[in-house]
This record gives sequence, structure tokens and C-alpha cells, in this order.
Amino acid sequence: MKNAYLNRYEIRRIRQGHPWIYTKSLDRVDDGLTPGDTVRILGPKGEFMGVGFYNPNSKIVLRKISKDEQAIDTKFFREKFKDALDYRDQILRGRSSFRLINSESDGLSGLIIDKYEDAVLFQIMSLGMEAHKAEIIQALQETLEPKVIIERNDVSSRQYEGLDSIKKIHQNSISGEELQNYSITIDNLSYQLDLIEGNKTGLYLDQVENHLKLRALCDYYEKPNVLDCFSYIGGFSLNAAYAHPHAQVTGIDQSKEANALARVNAQNNQLDSRCTFIDANVFDWLRNADPADKYDIVVLDPPSFTKNRYTVDNAIRGYKELHVRALKLLKNGGRLLTYSCSHHISESILRGLIHEAAADTQSTLREEAVYQQSSDHPIVMHIPESYYLKGFCYYKI
Ligand code: SAH
Repeated sequence: MKNAYLNRYEIRRIRQGHPWIYTKSLDRVDDGLTPGDTVRILGPKGEFMGVGFYNPNSKIVLRKISKDEQAIDTKFFREKFKDALDYRDQILRGRSSFRLINSESDGLSGLIIDKYEDAVLFQIMSLGMEAHKAEIIQALQETLEPKVIIERNDVSSRQYEGLDSIKKIHQNSISGEELQNYSITIDNLSYQLDLIEGNKTGLYLDQVENHLKLRALCDYYEKPNVLDCFSYIGGFSLNAAYAHPHAQVTGIDQSKEANALARVNAQNNQLDSRCTFIDANVFDWLRNADPADKYDIVVLDPPSFTKNRYTVDNAIRGYKELHVRALKLLKNGGRLLTYSCSHHISESILRGLIHEAAADTQSTLREEAVYQQSSDHPIVMHIPESYYLKGFCYYKI
């Protein structure tokens, strides 16, 4: 294995275990190293710091993969997957669909693996990881024995590592048609997913635990009238309708495909008489909504409005507008559940803009709960980027 030599730049962060090493921290590399190679990482005094992947064409020039000197082979991935599986078994108490590998937060920067019962999907976001695709597939086969392994390498962030978009089905004993109408059960609700074309890998697994928290809140109302903005295939809506026999739910999403699946999901769970899904832009819909139609619970779960720190101000304006409009439709005694999945919108920024929206609409809010991403998307303290989904529950007095 060849060597990469670091200088002192950001050495503290790197020593603490953050796996990303930027160009500025790299002093030099041994001759003959090629992009995607696995390298030994040496600190400023020549001390061994770990093993990682090298990509001089990415801003993240090294991604640390192991603290120990070891080969990155099928056995390595098998052990990582086994550890991740044991952890999920412990925290998820037998749930059969979950995120198995959440990139950095499972020690595998650039790799995501989601398991939906018998199907496993993976996404690779680094050149070094791409070079180990065959071992990853082999290790997945040995650890999980799934009926199908789907490569959903159609994420835009691959471009930063010089990687193309690839969608491929590996080792399949499920028909293609079934994969686009694939059914799973989570917390007693059945979801039909599109594993080939769906957002992310089909479901927002990072919200599953927050869906359950909504169930508990529905109990506080006699006949909860719930507005689910950015409803996708119905996650929050279905959980509200399931939780309370008299809940009436309206989901709004601009994706016709997502709404079509949400309706199928409502029907499959015998909740369709109490769930309505509307194809609309949430901003427009809220603007045109009748202010007399007030809701007991409003959920705001928008996509990330900013992927970088340069567009944070615009994003804040968008989030604030959304909250102003949502608060106008919330009853006194109602609850606003609001989330942001952008790492660049911190908890305090989100709280601050909600504070402003509350002032603008003369709403008095009680902060009842702080939420985060589901626990199968672990937050690692020394990797701030691993904390991205935050949310709050506000009670309107
Ligand atoms: N709440 C969902 C996940 C939401 S993902 C769950 O728990 O599963 C974000 C959704 O917002 C996507 O389905 C996307 O189609 C939708 N979306 C993005 N911008 C929108 C807009 N301006 N108006 C309506 N829907 C939008």
C-alpha cells in the first residue's frame, strides 16, 4: 500500500476521527498512486493515522475508511455490515426495513445501503468505494442474503468524484415490475414503493421514527384535522390516519407519482376514506387556502432548500414564508411539526426563523419537542455533517 503524507492543516479535526481530508491538508503522496487507490495515511510526524481512499480530483482528497492497517476487501465489508446490522437489531427491535449503512456515520464514507425487507439498495458517492463495488455486493450477499441487490447510483453528488450515473439490478429473483410496486410493512402500515424510480431509495427512512411521534400527538385530539405538507408517498399522513380512527388527513405534494402511490398506500391500509392527497405546490396551495379551514396539526417536511452554505439566506426566506403560511392555518391549541433536512440550516437557525414567523402572525408558540433523524442514520459527535435532519413540535397557544 502506498502512502499519503499530511501536513498540520486541520490535523486536530482529522485526529479526532473526521474521515474527510481536504486538499489543503495533503502534503504529498508516493509516486504511482492513481485516483481511487487505497492508501496508508501518515501524519505530519510520519505517524500512522489510518487507511483511506485517494481521489485527487475531489475536494475531499482522502476519505479515511479504517483506523487500522488492513486490507479493504470482502471480509472488511462483511465485518462492517455485520456490526451495522447488530446495531440496528438492537435499536430497531426487529424492524425489517432500515438504513444499514449511513456513510460516514457507519465508518464507510461514500456508501449508503438501505434494506427494504428482502431488497437491498446501495449508493456509492466516492471513487475509492466505486473501486470496491464487487466486494460490497459480495459482502451484502453473504451478510443479508437478499432476493435482490439494486444499485441506485443515480445521485447527483457522484459528479464531484467524477462518477457517472448508474442504475442496475444485481442478483435478482424479483421481477422488474414487482420492484416498481414493491410492498413492505413498517410499524403495521404497508407501503408500496418504487425501488427503481422513487426518491432517495424509495422511502424517507430518516423520518420513520418521527412518523411514530406524530401518532402519539394525534391522541390529544378528538377529531384531528391534519395537514401534511410535502407528503411524498404519505408517510406522515398514513401514520396520522392509522393512529386515530377519526383523523382526517390532507397531504400536499407536487409530485403526481408520489401522490398516486400515497393514494394506493391509503387504500391498501383501508385509510383511503380519511386521506386526501392533492397535487400542488405547497407554497401556492397554502397561499390560496381558505383561512377559515383550520388544522389541529400541520406537518412541514420540505426538501432541502439549500445544499451549500452560499444559498442559506434564500433558503431561510423560503422556510420563513412556509412557516408564516402554515401558522395562519393552525388552530389555537394546534401543533406544528416542522423539519429541515439541510445540514446548513442549523437547529438555531430553524428555531430563529420560526420565531420570526410566529411574531409576524402574532402566534404564541410553546416548544414541546425537538426531533432529529431516525436512529438508523446515526449522528456522530465529531462529524457535524452527520446531523442533518432536525425538527420541532410547537404548540400554538
Ligand atoms: N414527508 C415525507 C417526505 C417528504 S420529501 C415522508 O415523511 O415520507 C419532500 C417532498 O416534497 C417530495 O415528495 C417532493 O415531491 C415534494 N416537494 C418538493 N417541493 C415541493 C413544493 N414546492 N410543493 C409541493 N411538494 C414539493
